[in-house]
Amino acid sequence: MKKVFVASHPTEAHLVKGLLDSREIPAIVRGESLFGVRGEAPVTPDTLPSVWVNNDDQAEEAVALIRSHGVGVTDANTPGEPWSCSGCGEVVEAQFGECWKCGAAK
Ligand SMILES: [Zn+2]
Repeated sequence: MKKVFVASHPTEAHLVKGLLDSREIPAIVRGESLFGVRGEAPVTPDTLPSVWVNNDDQAEEAVALIRSHGVGVTDANTPGEPWSCSGCGEVVEAQFGECWKCGAAK
């Protein structure tokens, strides 16, 4: 058993599980039951729903698959490439959808 993904909510965890199932990578969702008690317990990766693969050998493939589907890539840990604004030429960090300087869309 290997953890391949920590979701921010149970729906996201099941989305990832379904994705892995569709590629015949057996996976389970753990920690869902703890989700309801958040607020009482500190929020850590242990209290968020997580997705585990049964076969450790498939963990790497699973992570790559999740990444390729863009799940969780909005996370601040993976900001991606900065982009240049077409309106004013300002270089804008990847997490922003529009220019902070002139407001032009990406
Ligand atoms: Zn701009």
